[in-house]
Amino acid sequence: MFDKFREECGVFAIQGHPEASKLTYLGLYALQHRGQESAGIASSDGQEIRCTKDMGHVAEIFTPAVLNELPGEMAIGHTRYSTAGDTVLLNAQPFSVACNKGRVAVAHNGNITNAAELRRELEMEGSIFQASSDTEVILHLVARSRERTLAGALRDAMLQLEGAFSLVFLAQDRIIVARDPHGFRPLAMGQMELSGGRICHVFASETCAFDLIGAVYLNDVEPGEMVIVGPEGITRERYAPAAEPAHCVFEHVYFSRPDSIVFGRPVQESREMLGRWLAREAPAPADLVVPVPDSGVAAAIGYSSESGLPFRQALIRNHYIGRTFIEPSQAIRDFGVKLKLNPVRSLLDGKSVVLVDDSIVRGTTSRKIVRMVRQAGAREIHLRISGPPTISPCFYGVDTPVKSELIAANQSVEEIRRFVEADTLAYLSMASLRRAVSDDKHEFCYACYSGNYPTELINIEELMRPKTRRG
Ligand code: AMP
Repeated sequence: MFDKFREECGVFAIQGHPEASKLTYLGLYALQHRGQESAGIASSDGQEIRCTKDMGHVAEIFTPAVLNELPGEMAIGHTRYSTAGDTVLLNAQPFSVACNKGRVAVAHNGNITNAAELRRELEMEGSIFQASSDTEVILHLVARSRERTLAGALRDAMLQLEGAFSLVFLAQDRIIVARDPHGFRPLAMGQMELSGGRICHVFASETCAFDLIGAVYLNDVEPGEMVIVGPEGITRERYAPAAEPAHCVFEHVYFSRPDSIVFGRPVQESREMLGRWLAREAPAPADLVVPVPDSGVAAAIGYSSESGLPFRQALIRNHYIGRTFIEPSQAIRDFGVKLKLNPVRSLLDGKSVVLVDDSIVRGTTSRKIVRMVRQAGAREIHLRISGPPTISPCFYGVDTPVKSELIAANQSVEEIRRFVEADTLAYLSMASLRRAVSDDKHEFCYACYSGNYPTELINIEELMRPKTRRG
């Protein structure tokens, strides 16, 4: 049966650079935080499309020898993370196929909410699927389209999709990128000038990918827009009428890197403002402000600036956890969290601490962190969350568990406080979240905080089922 995935991903595309696959590798390296499970690159030299993908981190998969096998001036890339049961290589992207429109590769960030229905219909009509990811549905729709050109077939396919998609396609002689009409997930557009004045076009989930390769951020691919870059140059066209904008607010709260500009706004600015509003709304009688790294750092800086309490990095994160660390056979209490974080006792001992994080999901990690800070000598722990309570799952590309597993969907703030063992607990209000991201025009999606989904969700029961029991 079709296993509906919730994936977190990063995408990248480049056209017109002699070392396209190497720059894609660097782009994906900067987007590694958006997915650490598998990565892939497809390149075209104008004749052939080649594709390499594997499980693991970008830097592990793409050795110089592997990149040498990906020649050409065009490439697309993908990093992927999924917690749904099936984590096999078969679901790694890009997907690359030969069809009546020629050879084409695709990479996708987001979730197509009607993928299950589309897949059922396609299967009834004879389509054969290899993977369980919803991205494959797009390729089947493209292949079946009566439109003669690839761009036409893509337009045809995308008009049948619902939900969230930022897509990058690679054909023999062009790249095509597109964003769903609501603009749930980001997709930035940039360029770099090569010797001789040639312009190379780049696209990425986040602008931090442009910084690494020396590209300039121009603007975003608009919701409902398709951008084609081929031998004839660049064309931008609207393939679907504009819908209500619904940019994912969680990109600003947690998911994107603070050095990125997402939906045209610096993430760092949003995060600091989240912290400032949090300090105004939920002050605490404390000695210092401590972030849960890395997700709470920028908000904690904001909290500290607003409250005047000193900012101290009293939890140190180990960034070098590979996939192959050796676990002791004897269970060590809270091993997973200890592997990642260690407290600085000299800063915490005897102190009253404001501990800042971006969210409480199930509450289990948060409790371990609170216990860790307490064991390091903290006298009082005031947990402050730089977003409202997470009460509803995301169906648009962020990996949140089902409602029954979301602690804030089922318990009051006081109950959660008791569960995580904090002395006080406060969340940011919705009004302040809106202010922090400057959402004057109501362009963001807040479904995970409000339960109001900006699109109609067909088969909601299917989407709500726990992931492990699907498939
Ligand atoms: P817990 O309290 O166990 O539910 O976990 C909360 C922690 O998970 C926080 O430190 C968050 O930064 C982190 N977190 C929140 N959302 C996500 C997500 N979609 N993927 C991975 N980690 C997340």
